[in-house]
Amino acid sequence: MMKKKIIVANWKMNHDFYETTSFLRNILKIVFEKKIEHNKKIIIAPSYPFLHISNQIVQGTFINIASQNVCCMEHGAYTGEVSAIMLKSIGIRSVIVGHSERKKYFFEKESIFLKKIKVSIKHNIYVIFCVGETLDDRKKNKHFSVIKNQLYETVFNCTEKEISYLCIAYEPIWAIGTGKNATNEQIQIMHKFIRSLFFKKYGSYVANNIYILYGGSINHTNVKRILYEKDVDGGLIGNSSLKLDNFLKIINS
Ligand code: PEP
Repeated sequence: MMKKKIIVANWKMNHDFYETTSFLRNILKIVFEKKIEHNKKIIIAPSYPFLHISNQIVQGTFINIASQNVCCMEHGAYTGEVSAIMLKSIGIRSVIVGHSERKKYFFEKESIFLKKIKVSIKHNIYVIFCVGETLDDRKKNKHFSVIKNQLYETVFNCTEKEISYLCIAYEPIWAIGTGKNATNEQIQIMHKFIRSLFFKKYGSYVANNIYILYGGSINHTNVKRILYEKDVDGGLIGNSSLKLDNFLKIINS
């Protein structure tokens, strides 16, 4: 059976209360009124303060809400942090972990990502886990080993049961927010490589069923060709998910 493609919108630190709620109400209204057909799972990740209201707005619709982050600790004296338990208590079912911006600006490392993965899964929250190489890694032909190490230090410490809560997003860092896409060939080769690592570690069932998304300057003009690739199960989208028109074109592509 064909897997349903997943589109994840990562809004990052954009959209205030009004923008978040009106985007969600408008997209639901337009899709309903214009009877826009699509066959994708749609997940939108707004900022922490708007997760609760967002989840209420989309309740029972084709849209799911994800958190952009979670604390690696379960509870306690961690000023400013938000726990998996808190997310679960407002009905959030998925979270993005390992985004390269968390590494670049907040100095998070694979060891922290592993804790975040484990604590999320413990509370039945699905994890969209990001991996990606720098341009320098790619130029030095180290991209395969970099991705392999990122997986071995994180998700490959999960049991097969835990893996069923995971989805991988391959996001070459040089393609995020830069307008540069990886080519179809680069994307398919890396996705196939990632799937082969899952095969070696967990066998064919996990390898076939794990979702591997691509992220990096996807927009409405290139989404179709990217999602067309055999091992691409969907996309993680930053900039192009912020404007309603663009995002509608993407989900409708
Ligand atoms: C991202 O930040 O995960 C991302 C893919 O961003 P953009 O689509 O803007 O490159």
